[in-house]
Amino acid sequence: MIELAEDTGDAAIEWNLVDDLRNATYNFPGDASCYYWGKVWHLTRAPHIRHLSEAGNERQGFLAPSDFAKLRDALPAHLSDFAQFGYATGQRSGELKLLTWKMVERDMVEGDILRIPVSITKNRRERILPLIGELAEVIERRRAARTVKQDDGSMRMAETIFHRDGRPVGEFKKAWQTAAVKVGLGRMICRVCGREGVEKKCPDCKKPCKYAGSIFHDFRRSAARNLTQAGVPQAVAMQVTGHLTDAMFRRYNIVVTDDLRAALTRTENYRETEQQKIVAIR
Ligand SMILES: [Zn+2]
Repeated sequence: MIELAEDTGDAAIEWNLVDDLRNATYNFPGDASCYYWGKVWHLTRAPHIRHLSEAGNERQGFLAPSDFAKLRDALPAHLSDFAQFGYATGQRSGELKLLTWKMVERDMVEGDILRIPVSITKNRRERILPLIGELAEVIERRRAARTVKQDDGSMRMAETIFHRDGRPVGEFKKAWQTAAVKVGLGRMICRVCGREGVEKKCPDCKKPCKYAGSIFHDFRRSAARNLTQAGVPQAVAMQVTGHLTDAMFRRYNIVVTDDLRAALTRTENYRETEQQKIVAIR
């Protein structure tokens, strides 16, 4: 149930948010084990934990549509549609990377359908995604970019929907970090002196910096929240994102302050109305 493989540090942060533990609780020991609910998870590497301040925790790990647009436009061309699709559907990057044209069923009347086979879904359930609106636009652009010229001059059709010169999208951490830092959604922090900036190497210490900021998995949380805020029933939204359990989905659907305000106001109005009814009866 825990998505350690994708981003260990962020999985830890999600546990933290969900269970209302505070920042102090995830100072994991550097021996690559962490304790949770009395269990010990032995990790393959020490978790990378992003620094969180106490204030504004509820906004961590999400990208507003305007921030997303900035980031997408700063990404290299081969990642821009990949990001657009990921932000809309909330699919895991691992799943997006494995999408092939064989999974696209043409339907000129109702619109194409993406049939995601059990072999690539993490929850081992086939999912269907109608390719409409922005998804259809992405697919049309990908279709146009499907033919690639090879080194020997011959032409080839890419097998995967998202690719770079015909090869499936691979590791893109560096390109991602460069783009995020460029648009102010990430920063580089010196491991030695703690200096924060945009340089990959600390100008003072001459040591490589570590990245802190938006990660691809934020799209998954954002999509879950955007779907819910738009009024999509949870069961349907989970079909889009590919979330397996309600609990996992709810983790991403953190109630924003505005919702709480509206809820309190509505409840107060309700109470007043009820009160007036009682007075009227008397
Ligand atoms: Zn430094």
